[in-house]
Amino acid sequence: MLTDKGQNDAEAHLRALDQRHTLHPWTHFDSFEREGAMVVESGEGCYLKDANGKSYLDAVGGMWCTNIGLGRKEMAQTIAEQVEKLAYSSTFVDMTNGPSALLAEKLASLTPGDLNRMHFTTGGSTAVDSAYRLVGFYNYCRGKPEKTHIIARDQAYHGSTFVTMSIGNKAADKVTEFQYLRDGIHHISAPHHYRAEGNPSEENFTDQLIAEFEAKIAEIGADKVGAFFAEPIQASGGVLVPPKGYLKRMWEVCQKHDILFLADEVVTAFGRLGHFFASEDEFGVVPDIITTAKGLSSGYLPMGAMIYSDRIHDVISQGDENRWFTSGYTYSGHPVCCAAALKNIEIMEREDLMQNATEVGAYFEEQLNTLNDLEIVGNVRGRKLMMCVENVKDKASKELFPDEVDIGKRIAITAEGLGLLVRPIGHLNVMSPPLTLTRKDVDFLVETLRASIVEVTKQLR
Ligand code: PLP
Repeated sequence: MLTDKGQNDAEAHLRALDQRHTLHPWTHFDSFEREGAMVVESGEGCYLKDANGKSYLDAVGGMWCTNIGLGRKEMAQTIAEQVEKLAYSSTFVDMTNGPSALLAEKLASLTPGDLNRMHFTTGGSTAVDSAYRLVGFYNYCRGKPEKTHIIARDQAYHGSTFVTMSIGNKAADKVTEFQYLRDGIHHISAPHHYRAEGNPSEENFTDQLIAEFEAKIAEIGADKVGAFFAEPIQASGGVLVPPKGYLKRMWEVCQKHDILFLADEVVTAFGRLGHFFASEDEFGVVPDIITTAKGLSSGYLPMGAMIYSDRIHDVISQGDENRWFTSGYTYSGHPVCCAAALKNIEIMEREDLMQNATEVGAYFEEQLNTLNDLEIVGNVRGRKLMMCVENVKDKASKELFPDEVDIGKRIAITAEGLGLLVRPIGHLNVMSPPLTLTRKDVDFLVETLRASIVEVTKQLR
């Protein structure tokens, strides 16, 4: 991935093959051509080992996803048994399988409100993509075919399909020559308090954001707005924790205008914030639709779900006898993925990983905040096991380092050399470790990150 590699022939061979044939997601062509990728060989708990035998604390949790930690024999056994019994069967039309039915019922018992309907997908992007279409379909079925517009936020990330990239709005992702879908998709400000103009109080900032939302709805026309899409905490947009009262008030605005509230919980569900679902338990919101993935199977197998309310189901399932929702994937309700997700949830419950995430997460938050004394740390933010450090050139003005300094990556490279993986996103370093993290891991993580930031600061002088 980031540093010097190539200590042994086998590793060098794999890295060269990969360099020659693989297009990696979100990877700069020039540095990849020069350096290639880290060849990861094994993983256990929160730790990864590369093909040179070097061990790392993976504070990124894979890609926000290895929630129960890697290398669990119980997961391997469950997956193997299900493969032997039934490796595949479709859930299209009139077939189902045991793990899919049991997982649907289990999820319904964990979701807030009447979110009792599951549409299984292959990951987060396909869940959000299906949800986008559900919004239009639902409104069509209830005689409001115009109500298809979506309002989302700047710095949102909702996935990598054409539609989900269009709903997201990370500036760095929207390459100018490529045309994203723009019709019917609108963006309002991200709830980024640290960078809010004029340093408003949290309360005033929330008021501003609510007013902006109301104004956007008025501009489009409430009869045309189908849904508001929001990550409870914006993840790859920079771990943006919304200001006090924001999500609940946004939800109330949605209810007032008959707009569906979609919580994209691809990252925030399954324990990262100490709850199975964060919308209600952390923010007091009962969404109409929840999209999720990642921690649902802790990365053991690809899996996602679009979860929606009985109220929506009653509308789309009634009326025309020949009506159906034309969304689904060959691997929707895949028996092996569903069996893995069920076992994953069982482990989370048995080991009370929500409690560990809450306790160790609070310690992580507290300890990471000690980095605020460093010269280039402008802001430490996040909650529990979803944290981020924003690096700045000047703390008072919040001025950023020029892009060519590549500050987040420099710090990540230095940390990698010291046995710690943190994710660079522009000038940020982002962390989302497994829920099994211990206080000792937190101490190592924070000390190592401190040492890395200090070292990079020295180099920049
Ligand atoms: N939604 C959010 C909030 C995400 O963070 C992601 C991925 O990081 C996605 C959707 C897309 O999920 P996937 O990569 O599984 O398609």
